[in-house]
Amino acid sequence: MITFDGVSKLYEHRTKAVDKLDLHIQENEFFVLIGPSGCGKTTTLKMINRLIDVSEGSIFIDDKKITEYDIHELRWNIGYVLQQIALFPHMTIAENIAIVPELKMWGRKQIQDRVDKLLEMVGLNPAIYRNRKPAELSGGQQQRIGVARALAADPRIILMDEPFSALDPISREKLQNDMLHLKQTINKTIVFVTHDIREALKLGDRICIMKEGKVLQIGSPDEILHHP
Ligand code: ADP
Ligand code: ADP
Repeated sequence: MITFDGVSKLYEHRTKAVDKLDLHIQENEFFVLIGPSGCGKTTTLKMINRLIDVSEGSIFIDDKKITEYDIHELRWNIGYVLQQIALFPHMTIAENIAIVPELKMWGRKQIQDRVDKLLEMVGLNPAIYRNRKPAELSGGQQQRIGVARALAADPRIILMDEPFSALDPISREKLQNDMLHLKQTINKTIVFVTHDIREALKLGDRICIMKEGKVLQIGSPDEILHHP
């Protein structure tokens, strides 16, 4: 579904962040990118929704080059979750989730139903949380809102850049477990960046270990564990 064909990224000062990368990410796969800091994980992720342009090679989604899609359509059809979710502090949780343009045309009731369903999906009681402000939520709960917002437009692809790594170990473990449950209930292609091998093995269908902008090893958790 997502294909990298000889993709390289050269930043200024000639840092080659990604080096002739070939990847095939399957539909509905939970694909983890892992490796040490600076190995090119974030660069790889951000090239998918064109937050960063490739220097060489091409990326395809459904056999169509990403440069051939309308960029706004591309971005809004790819959910994106960051390490530190930026919620609008003056807006309620429901408003923060419904900010996605796709929902703008919807009726009030329809939006509320959708927001409530999303809150349930990420393990928060809608009746309690929908009218709260972000400041009233814990770090873990804010990340849950980030996941809900990424799911709001029902995109087929979700990019997650170390979404749980700023959390304390207990919240982190809870979110990982919920993510595991969520991945079984939604049909999404997820590209997930982490530097935590335990997290990668727990969540990934396949794990891609990167080193200096290249693929060092790629395989299922089983393959990674037994053929290191
Ligand atoms: P990771 O996500 O694995 O930590 P990154 O993709 O962020 O790695 O970075 C890969 C390499 O590219 C690193 O050497 C980093 O310093 C460099 N890099 C990242 N962003 C920029 C940038 N905007 N300008 C120049 N170099 C960058
Ligand atoms: P964190 O991930 O930051 O630890 P939690 O998800 O553990 O946050 O939730 C923090 C607080 O919110 C806990 O006291 C928990 O009981 C409460 N909480 C979590 N989920 C719900 C829910 N669906 N309904 C009501 N309260 C909840």
